Amino acid sequence: MKPFITALAVTASLLIIAGCGDRDHAIPRLVPSDDDGTGHTAPSEFTIRANAAVLEKLPFEDQTDFEDARRGLIATRSDPVIRDAAGKEVWNLDDFAFETGDAPDSVNPSLWRQAKLNAIHGLFEVSDGIYQVRGYDLANMSLVESDNGWIVIDSMTTKETATAAMDLVREHLGERPVVALLYTHSHIDHFGGARAVLSDEDLERGVPVIAPEGFVVEAVSENVLAGTAMTRRASYMFGFLLGRGPRGHVDSGLGKASTPGSFGLIRPTEIVSQTGTEMTLDGVRVVFQNTPGAEAPAEMMFYFPELKALCGAENVSHVLHNVYTPRGAKVRDALRWSAYIDEAIALFGDAEVLFASHHWPTWGRERIIEYLKKQRDVYKFIHDQTLRLANHGYTMLEIAEQIELPESLAQTFATRGYYGTVNHNAKAVYQHYFGWFDANPANLHALPPEQAAGRYVEAMGGGDAVVEKARVSYAKGDYRWTAMLLNHLVFAEPKHQAARGLLADTYDQLGYQAESGPWRDFYLTGAKELREGPGDLPFARQGTLDIVSSVPTGLFFDALAVRLDGKKAEGADTVINFVFTDIGETHVLELENAVLHHRQAEPRPDADTTVKLTREGWNQIITGQASFQGKILSGEIDVDGSRLKLLGFFAMLDDFEPTFNIVTP
Ligand SMILES: [Zn+2]
Repeated sequence: MKPFITALAVTASLLIIAGCGDRDHAIPRLVPSDDDGTGHTAPSEFTIRANAAVLEKLPFEDQTDFEDARRGLIATRSDPVIRDAAGKEVWNLDDFAFETGDAPDSVNPSLWRQAKLNAIHGLFEVSDGIYQVRGYDLANMSLVESDNGWIVIDSMTTKETATAAMDLVREHLGERPVVALLYTHSHIDHFGGARAVLSDEDLERGVPVIAPEGFVVEAVSENVLAGTAMTRRASYMFGFLLGRGPRGHVDSGLGKASTPGSFGLIRPTEIVSQTGTEMTLDGVRVVFQNTPGAEAPAEMMFYFPELKALCGAENVSHVLHNVYTPRGAKVRDALRWSAYIDEAIALFGDAEVLFASHHWPTWGRERIIEYLKKQRDVYKFIHDQTLRLANHGYTMLEIAEQIELPESLAQTFATRGYYGTVNHNAKAVYQHYFGWFDANPANLHALPPEQAAGRYVEAMGGGDAVVEKARVSYAKGDYRWTAMLLNHLVFAEPKHQAARGLLADTYDQLGYQAESGPWRDFYLTGAKELREGPGDLPFARQGTLDIVSSVPTGLFFDALAVRLDGKKAEGADTVINFVFTDIGETHVLELENAVLHHRQAEPRPDADTTVKLTREGWNQIITGQASFQGKILSGEIDVDGSRLKLLGFFAMLDDFEPTFNIVTP
């Protein structure tokens, strides 16, 4: 039953943000002539000039953010390294110790400033009774003192980082029980470490876990169907493969970096579905605002009226966030996002302190309102201007090139593109309304990259001629055009060493000039892979039984359907009953017209095969704790009917390569 085992293992890998593949490194390692040991080339005079110009453009003398980011510091860890149970490093505060003083020539000074702010770490007193742990994870943990303990807001990405945060809190603020856990939204950097916050005993004594409507399904589903591709793309966006340093990863904009380690999920016990919902948690009153379908599909903000403290979740941050996230995700609704922030101003405008899921807080009513208005307006400006230009007949790339924020927003650090950018968010708004097509018939049925690339190269006089032209544009600092030229050549002739080397150098320069952390990491990762080929992803985050057991059964069958090879399934006609005896669910799988359907229904009596198993056993197989074969041998799985049909069905399912090519064909 090997195919079945593989089938399940790969379904499981959708829940494990990891990758490792044996790869034949056919490309000899390309080393730039001025290698400083990182493999990345030196900043060119154009890059140095472009970065120096940024210093003239923005109000770097304003130190308010640095004062806010340091305000209320109580203490930080003495040991800079956070390790997992096996002793492996999960987080190292010293990784970013190089981020001091003025920006090196190879880093955009605006990003450098954000990197230094995000590197400030420790336990902070936000205001009377409110604390935060920042800089130990991509995300923050916030704590509100209640009559008898702590209300914990967000549990970070992993058990390891959340444990470090809770340890720091206990060490400096004493031992107090957790009386409630609130998840602001369904992204993993805000729930993955929940097991470090609440023990089994806490759950048994009924400590409430509160989340916005739709939280569980969104939390476990986002990566199931498109997981392999999203993870691969995320390796570019967060620079999993990059070293840290002036020619490597410096910051993600939203925080220092994505966090490896182990994660889980504690299911919420109470759901917030209405704005205006109120709760009193161990003596502390909370008023909720439900904000689905903006930054995350399930998200909420909330206000502590007695403390005059607003938690902005991730709807407000000290960045322009992503309307479209370049790792790949469904595009977000900029208009709705802006409207929620406007609603928060109306509902909670008397807040004296505002804290959020990322970055440092803002204090004082006037400053909070100004900050919220600018957060609100940056999304609406991009939205409205994109549609204005679209209605003038401009298309996606033209619009993104034209939109510039008004000075009031452009001169505000909190609305600058450290994470999202005006450019790719404008494209996102276009995509939201118009999709991929610009209505020009030349683009309706364009040739795919490899087919077009060979013809472009031929039309330009062959590979060496393209390299010559690219050298001229590179020497002028025209890097965007150089990248377009050389990308055609690399896609036409992937082993053309001069093309790969010069394209890698070009990506380095584009990365060094980028203000957005993800843009920088995309370019530098592309450069690295052109020089070395795609490596194994060193980044591993292990999904646990918590997560797998929260996935609705039907979603696993949706994931199987995504793996069905349409060609192999041609002409096949198969019906399989999956009977889950412990949860009383049967899923009938029907394969016809090269499409796999499933439906929760009574078992079909005419099925080719009936598989009887438990959902608990299924979870164990998915998480690798047991094998399908082992469970058949032990009698825990019963297969009735045609085993041949079952085997034939699983032989039609693809396995996915976690490190597929991106910068080469
Ligand atoms: Zn987050």
